[in-house]
Amino acid sequence: MKTNQTTPSPQTRMNIWDLLRNIVPFVSPYRWLVAATLALTLVGSLMAQVNAVVLDRAVDAINVLVQQSGGFAWADAVRILTIITAILLGKEVVAAVVTFFQRYYGERMRILVSRDLSLRVVESMLSFRMAFFSAEDNETGRLQSRIDRGIMSLSNTVNNFFIEILPLFTSAVLALVLMFAANVYVGLVALCIVPIYFWVTYVQASRMKGGRRSIFGGHQAVSQGILSIIESISVIKSFNREHIEADRQAALQRTMTDLQLSTRRQSYFFNGLKSFLEQIGTVLIIILTAYLVLIDYPGMSIGKIMYHVMLFANVSAPIRQLHRIYDDMNDALIYAEGFFGIIHADDEVEDSGSFRPASVRGDFQLKDVDFTYPGGTKALHGVSLNIPSGKITALVGLSGAGKSTIVNLLDKFYHPDCGSICLDGVELREWDTQWLRDHVGLVLQKNHIFDGTIEENIRYGRPTATHEEVVEAARQAYIYEQIMQLPRGFETSALQLSGGQQQRIAIARMFIKNPPIIFLDEPTASLDAIATEQIKASIDAIKAGRTVVIISHNIGQIIDADQIYVLQQGRVVQSGTPDEVYHQGGLYKDIFDASARSMNVDKIANTLA
Ligand code: ADP
Repeated sequence: MKTNQTTPSPQTRMNIWDLLRNIVPFVSPYRWLVAATLALTLVGSLMAQVNAVVLDRAVDAINVLVQQSGGFAWADAVRILTIITAILLGKEVVAAVVTFFQRYYGERMRILVSRDLSLRVVESMLSFRMAFFSAEDNETGRLQSRIDRGIMSLSNTVNNFFIEILPLFTSAVLALVLMFAANVYVGLVALCIVPIYFWVTYVQASRMKGGRRSIFGGHQAVSQGILSIIESISVIKSFNREHIEADRQAALQRTMTDLQLSTRRQSYFFNGLKSFLEQIGTVLIIILTAYLVLIDYPGMSIGKIMYHVMLFANVSAPIRQLHRIYDDMNDALIYAEGFFGIIHADDEVEDSGSFRPASVRGDFQLKDVDFTYPGGTKALHGVSLNIPSGKITALVGLSGAGKSTIVNLLDKFYHPDCGSICLDGVELREWDTQWLRDHVGLVLQKNHIFDGTIEENIRYGRPTATHEEVVEAARQAYIYEQIMQLPRGFETSALQLSGGQQQRIAIARMFIKNPPIIFLDEPTASLDAIATEQIKASIDAIKAGRTVVIISHNIGQIIDADQIYVLQQGRVVQSGTPDEVYHQGGLYKDIFDASARSMNVDKIANTLA
């Protein structure tokens, strides 16, 4: 099993090129959006420099005006001010339009990419074999959090890139080019300060990384704690353990508070340091430009002081955001690994053969089958058994003996480590997996009832079934009368039904599917006696003429079987008809007798007599 390679823990990191390589296929369908955003970015970056240019020109023009001998003409002043106003307001209008479309397109891209990522991950997961889902790294909660966080973080990265990172950096590069064009020395000073900012940001990010992780973990612990209080409130109250729970929460909160405060402290310190460095940069630029103006350096005028200061502000703007961008990228790299691990787990895709016979008899043969779960539990050791068609075979044994594992193998949810499993004489591996499952009905101890109406839940067995067929299936499963007593009949939400009723919906679902092979895995465990009896009646109705494999702790169901296999710690220890095996003594007799005693059969017989 290659679980560790295909589904790495979310802590492992991709590098930025891996991230890009993985995300480009999700962005490339929206090329026109990317192109439009890039064009807008360029216009936006040009607009960002307008203030600097206007101020430079305005200061120089006004300077010339005031220095005119004999006083300036008001008409000239008004003309200059009108031009400035028109340009600045015009620029604001263009900038507002650009920002609107940039944000809108960026958001649109985020939503579309997020949709495509979700669809893709669902598509991948549906194609995976069961082993993927039973791997330790892929427990429901973990898998869900990898998917949720992956989608959120990756789509935000796409959004941030187009509406924040790209515009800011383009504007910074443009501002730097303008500074160099105005004066090489000023450009060089601005350029030299950039690496210092980068360095400070890097130190800040690496110092705060541990803190951020711990806060993240702390949040999870706090919410997990609250959840567990809610879930076990009756136990907490019945043992009067409220104060213990309250103390536990208080301790968690104290740790969180300390962490948050220390992270904030560090963050304010570094932000202060960065502002200070930025101011040093600005001061250096003012001093240098003022010096160049004073020595009458070619091309230098008083307006250039403002010009350079404003351009420098554009250069340093993205650097001020660098820390946040760095954090976001870091998160994206962490989550991308876990997320794309799922999408690219090609070796988890369920395999399928091509054997699709016109009719399926339902004759299974297992020979020397060993099986180990992905987690390493060896569940079956050299199991050999025959499951003849048209007969009822019961698998008997204590919990954990390997009964459900056999059913999992027969339904091709897993492949054996060694040995062979044949259906109608053909290796299960060679069967078309979907074809096989089309001919198999599986009823479990707890069947999944989907969020939908009763009719939808029954029709899940065969989506093309008519309403009449759904009704007929409900009748066969002995649930029709109860459905009709509900105010909304077949339109009632199936989730509102009791456990026993839901179980019969699952049986109706199997009736409507009408498969030649049926696996029943403890279908009546945890149900009351009446429901058990009704379900027994429905099962009796469905099993006629089919291959039935039943796992049950209910001796009433076991003794109805044509043959039984008794399993103990993954090995077949007894087999034969129920009577034969009982008279052999051994485990089955022990289970049978214990069952009869626990039911108090003698007294029941007396009562009934
Ligand atoms: P039974 O149906 O007889 O109660 P199972 O077939 O469910 O027993 O289990 C056989 C053994 O395999 C047990 O030790 C059980 O812990 C283990 N097992 C069952 N399902 C899984 C799984 N998905 N992953 C790992 N081990 C499992």
